[in-house]
Amino acid sequence: MTLPASTPYLVIGAGIHGLSTAYHLAKELEARGLGAGSDIVVVDKHSPGAGASGIACGVVRNNYFQPAMSELMQACVEVWESDPAAYRYHGVGYVALGAACQESDLAATFERQERIGYRSELIVGERAVAEHMKELFPDWRARGVTACLHEHQGGFAYNVDSIMGLATKCEQSWVRIHSGVEVKAFEFAADGSIVAAITSQGTIAVGEQVVIAPGPWAKQLWAMLELPQAIDVHTPTGEMIEGRPMWTYWNLQEGEIRVEPKLFSLPDGSMPPVIHLDSDAPLVTDDGKLVTDELWGVYFKQDKHGVQGGASPLEVGTELELDPYPQTTDVDPDFPDMWCAALSHAMSRFEGCRPLYKLARSGGVGAFTADNFPVFDYVKPNAYGIFDSNHGYKMIGVGREVAKVVCGDHSSLLHPFRFERFETGDLHPASSSPYPWS
Ligand SMILES: Cc1cc2nc3c(=O)[nH]c(=O)nc-3n(C[C@H](O)[C@H](O)[C@H](O)COP(=O)(O)OP(=O)(O)OC[C@H]3O[C@@H](n4cnc5c(N)ncnc54)[C@H](O)[C@@H]3O)c2cc1C
Repeated sequence: MTLPASTPYLVIGAGIHGLSTAYHLAKELEARGLGAGSDIVVVDKHSPGAGASGIACGVVRNNYFQPAMSELMQACVEVWESDPAAYRYHGVGYVALGAACQESDLAATFERQERIGYRSELIVGERAVAEHMKELFPDWRARGVTACLHEHQGGFAYNVDSIMGLATKCEQSWVRIHSGVEVKAFEFAADGSIVAAITSQGTIAVGEQVVIAPGPWAKQLWAMLELPQAIDVHTPTGEMIEGRPMWTYWNLQEGEIRVEPKLFSLPDGSMPPVIHLDSDAPLVTDDGKLVTDELWGVYFKQDKHGVQGGASPLEVGTELELDPYPQTTDVDPDFPDMWCAALSHAMSRFEGCRPLYKLARSGGVGAFTADNFPVFDYVKPNAYGIFDSNHGYKMIGVGREVAKVVCGDHSSLLHPFRFERFETGDLHPASSSPYPWS
């Protein structure tokens, strides 16, 4: 397909955000009687799902301590639930288990979920949590867990399959996806608006608006937009942190064990919820080596070929060559021991699973903003940026909100993620989680 010389709407990036925006924008335009002639062009330097969306573990949860994240996630889960077959979504739920130091965060999250009508339950106390988990998994044996937030919505989706589902929806509407088209630079008007994108396949003029959803390539697109690579961050208490890097890379530690997927099922054989386990009990491998006696955390889910999951990511700095993506399957050498020890710590069915650990195409890099939360905002008068700070496979509903904004509406769900927050100190509260994204 030849790249057209112009388009009213240009979307850069065919990951979860670019495709969801394009699809929902087509629907919005159609609903407003503006569909015909309003072709939406999506360009991707590789192909749909070539970025982080195609490698994500696929977990969909609402366990966010930050009110704005929680409310946005509720809207995202609504989109997942709207077409589970097309999105290959499994609404099996999500269980977050925490140590004593995380009890109050989980309780606050639960109370908010109750208020907004997100279905979940909170179990507190080591014994009550163990009983709840043994009902789900009779061989549950984790220690150091005193709070459990069991979300009865959410779950996971199959990464590439869901992107293909979205791409099909796009192609059945006013959207044209052009793979192998890399945006190299922009041409700007005097007011800073983008008038054209210069790509590897020629220049494409933009009639109306551009949506930029570059995933881990955020820093490169940010530079093309001539935005600052370091910013001052004003905290809610009035402090100012000068010159903080806008983008920092973290390497997500993920892997899998190749087992019969049904090994990790509920007693009736059905698919279990996604498990996220944080604990401060000493973590020891099956052959008795101490991994850590500090707070640790893992997550895992049933997958097509076994059990897949991860642990806390590793910060890798502010400079990184990202092509090809993901760079390798190189997780930290200690990760397989740690993750398998944690599986075995949780349930006896995983005892001795370490030899079944498989080096697979999972794990990869995410680009995080100066406060580790997304920036969803206009970054030029006619260019909306979806910089999700690696929160976002689960955030399929962001595109639905962006589509409304592009059509001139306000989104109260996206408002808390505006870039201006770094200047006004309107930052999101931090939790006690060991992860940079909770
Ligand atoms: C290992 C790993 C596991 C994860 N697990 C989860 C999870 O379980 N749940 C969850 O919610 N999130 C998860 N995430 C985060 C999530 O994957 C990302 O936040 C999300 O997929 C980002 O979506 P995106 O559409 O912004 O970017 P991407 O999916 O990366 O898409 C961006 C696209 O832009 C294209 N592109 C980049 N630059 C250009 C250019 N100059 N010109 C044209 N095209 C360009 C790329 O080729 C790419 O296809 C995980 C991330 C990683 C790395």
